[in-house]
Amino acid sequence: MRNQPGVLIVEDEPAIAELIAVNLRHNGFRPTWAMDSASAQRELDDVLPDVILLDWMLPGESGLVLAKRWRANPRTKQVPIIMLTARGDESDRVAGLDAGADDYIAKPFSTKELLARVRAVLRRRAPEQAGGPVAMGDLLLDSSTYRVSFRAQMLKLGPTEFKLLHYFMNHAERVHSRSQLLDKVWGDHVFIEERTVDVHVKRLREALGAEAGSMIETVRGAGYRLTAQSILPQAQQVNA
Ligand code: CA
Repeated sequence: MRNQPGVLIVEDEPAIAELIAVNLRHNGFRPTWAMDSASAQRELDDVLPDVILLDWMLPGESGLVLAKRWRANPRTKQVPIIMLTARGDESDRVAGLDAGADDYIAKPFSTKELLARVRAVLRRRAPEQAGGPVAMGDLLLDSSTYRVSFRAQMLKLGPTEFKLLHYFMNHAERVHSRSQLLDKVWGDHVFIEERTVDVHVKRLREALGAEAGSMIETVRGAGYRLTAQSILPQAQQVNA
């Protein structure tokens, strides 16, 4: 189950962090926990989560300072942030939203509400990912369940391969350069080399198997294209 959305919890109180993490895990998310700003920054430098749950009152730098910094950074500015805080005043809510938070939850909160808000920011930020199934021939991808199948057989894809296939299927029959793919699929290419795309395309083809994998064409000197052409016409020619 590696296709689950990642949620970074930045919270200095272990009991609250644990409660949130357990609930996220039970509801199909992949939580990671950072207890202060330095470890949160390390987590972000390592891998970008799909959502950040950010406590306002942290030892050292406050959540507000972190939200402002992450919003100003091109690498992290797209990651949705939900501020968690005991402060419920309107002026504080405004300060949180002004700092770039996408949403705001006052403690104590219900875990149901928290989950609903996490899902809501994911839908707003990535409308394509919240969409229903996309089909191309016998290849089927369902972003609501994070499932991919070919001829009704389930396939196992890593999270990046899933995102890559999702992008290809929503933009099929078009050639995408490596740098475009980094931009659209990874969301940033500050720390990523273009050959990383080749590695993940290779993994995606392997995960899809020979037949479905051949739908992803390498276009020499240009990039990659997902096409339905490569399977069907060839099969028909053989029969003709
Ligand atoms: Ca706190």
